[in-house]
Amino acid sequence: MPRLDVQGLTRRFDGHAVVRDVSFQVQAGQVACLLGPSGCGKSTTLRIVAGVDIQDSGRILVDGRLICDGRTRVPPERRGIGLMFQDFALFPHLPVRENVAFGLAGGWKANRDRVAELLDRVRMTRHIDSYPHELSGGEQQRIALARALAPRPGVLLMDEPFSGLDERLRDGIRDETLALLKEEGTAVLLVTHEPHEAMRMADQILLMRDGRIVQQGAPYNLYNAPVDRQAAGFFSDIN
Ligand code: ADP
Ligand code: MG
Repeated sequence: MPRLDVQGLTRRFDGHAVVRDVSFQVQAGQVACLLGPSGCGKSTTLRIVAGVDIQDSGRILVDGRLICDGRTRVPPERRGIGLMFQDFALFPHLPVRENVAFGLAGGWKANRDRVAELLDRVRMTRHIDSYPHELSGGEQQRIALARALAPRPGVLLMDEPFSGLDERLRDGIRDETLALLKEEGTAVLLVTHEPHEAMRMADQILLMRDGRIVQQGAPYNLYNAPVDRQAAGFFSDIN
């Protein structure tokens, strides 16, 4: 059974469909990249899965449990889904330890072991008492990842999580992030407009255009056998 099962999502704004009959599945331990140009409907898809926007049709299951369709709507905090966005949105008034423990009942005091484990994994143990403004962008990103994973979400949604980072740091942080995601066994839906990022991180690429998934498969399949000329052009300038 897939961890995340998205079936036929459609979302219209003012009569215009920005997400059109989108279906895909993500297995535990797998990274699926929703890849496509700006405005093609990636973030809208992710927001619907998160439960902060509502589809016009379609349904979503997590571990076989229906979390939303036309009638049912499980609230975001009870979906077993974690979120990580481009602006890391750490809480500026809280030290690192409380930021990481934020989604855990009882805060840091009740969860010292889990917080310590995650800080060790992201190599931030020495910053346990630091505040976000004392950290570099890359360090804040690692704390945001630790915070998102702390409650052990079955599914993690990431919307352009590396785009705020210095270009020179990105590949290193991508690789570190991927290693931790694999250790945790999370099913990941990663939104990106960068083919290079999808090729580097994805088990499965969902290529999106004008609200539709036009091709999906393993990265090398999309690279070697693009569905059409436009898809070929999209992958041609990978560095
Ligand atoms: P992407 O993340 O791929 O860049 P989005 O999902 O953010 O694309 O947006 C897809 C389209 O939907 C865009 O044309 C955007 O302007 C439109 N859109 C997104 N959110 C809203 C909204 N709340 N109201 C109206 N239009 C929206
Ligand atoms: Mg977006």
